[in-house]
Amino acid sequence: MKKKESALNVLKGIESPSSVDKNSAKNFLKKRKRNFDVDEIVKGIFEGNISILSSAITLIESNLPKHRVIANQIIEKCLPHSGNSVRIGITGVPGVGKSTFIEALGIYLIGQDHKLAVLAIDPSSEHSGGSILGDKTRMEHLSVEKNAFIRPSPSSGSLGGVARKTRETIILCEAAGFDTIFIETVGVGQSETKVHSMVDFFLLLMLAGAGDELQGIKRGIMEMADTVIINKADGDNLNKAKLAKIEYENALHMFPPSDSTWIPNVLLTSAIKDTGIAEVWNSITDYKKLTKQNSFWQHNRQQQAKYWMHETINESLKSNFYQYANNKNEIGQFETKVLNGQINPFEAAKVLLDNYFKGFGV
Ligand code: GDP
Repeated sequence: MKKKESALNVLKGIESPSSVDKNSAKNFLKKRKRNFDVDEIVKGIFEGNISILSSAITLIESNLPKHRVIANQIIEKCLPHSGNSVRIGITGVPGVGKSTFIEALGIYLIGQDHKLAVLAIDPSSEHSGGSILGDKTRMEHLSVEKNAFIRPSPSSGSLGGVARKTRETIILCEAAGFDTIFIETVGVGQSETKVHSMVDFFLLLMLAGAGDELQGIKRGIMEMADTVIINKADGDNLNKAKLAKIEYENALHMFPPSDSTWIPNVLLTSAIKDTGIAEVWNSITDYKKLTKQNSFWQHNRQQQAKYWMHETINESLKSNFYQYANNKNEIGQFETKVLNGQINPFEAAKVLLDNYFKGFGV
């Protein structure tokens, strides 16, 4: 089946900005099959070379162990040059207007001399073509801006794996000089929790409904939001949006105050008419000012770093175990036994894990 065209896939097709080298990331990997010069790649990243940045991200996304080794070396060298951006999570159900909003805010930021990277986490993309990805070209204005870099979600792996790759990609983008990073996800699964754990500020996009404003979106997501945006506040929808704003403000007041001391707010935007966009950015800069002053900004980043240490351990152990067990063809055998009722699932898991640990002499 022909793959859907989509915004977060745009990058490969739209290599028109002069800053973008014609070499695709894939060619880069092919050409350098034998020889990766980590220093050369890192230098390219520091110089803001988009083609080299893309290739390095491709290495991060690769599941080949030899690529992983190089990727780790690149990340290590980029780490001291990372951390200087504002990381913003953006979520909302499909159709709420995320890509239109990102384009509007992105163009606004580029106009203010910011350098913006737009990343995405969409673990469903491998199977479905991705709920985050529309069947049209998304962010077509932003994607040709030389100070904007749009990268689709890594398209394979577990949510944990995809999230780790995105977090590592943030590091590379920061080292390449991007001062603002958007991380987009669909507010329908678990991915927004992962995004929340890697950003400084979390934006939730909502629509004004017909009296059911608080339905369809989990309470937990509302609680994570630093700003709730009611998008499509235009035309006949404007009055409904104003009412929804009051309802959401009341709902947000019910949540316990955050350690950041920031009081989440509700803003109205029309991504299509380009209204309310500056106010969203003002909220983000106010938040940054407040939390830098009261040290929550740094505290939050430290907590996130701790969380990611554990996540990385969990992910590595898991993938290492499956690699080991798959190499020995054990997983399939035990799956069959469990299906046939020859062994119970807990016993099967125990045997598999014991075999794995024994393999390492544990
Ligand atoms: P996403 O799935 O969340 O990325 O949503 P899109 O950005 O693709 O938008 C879904 C549809 O809503 C598109 O047809 C947009 O043109 C439309 N849309 C997005 N933002 C607005 C807005 O502010 N006002 C109106 N009226 N339509 C909008």
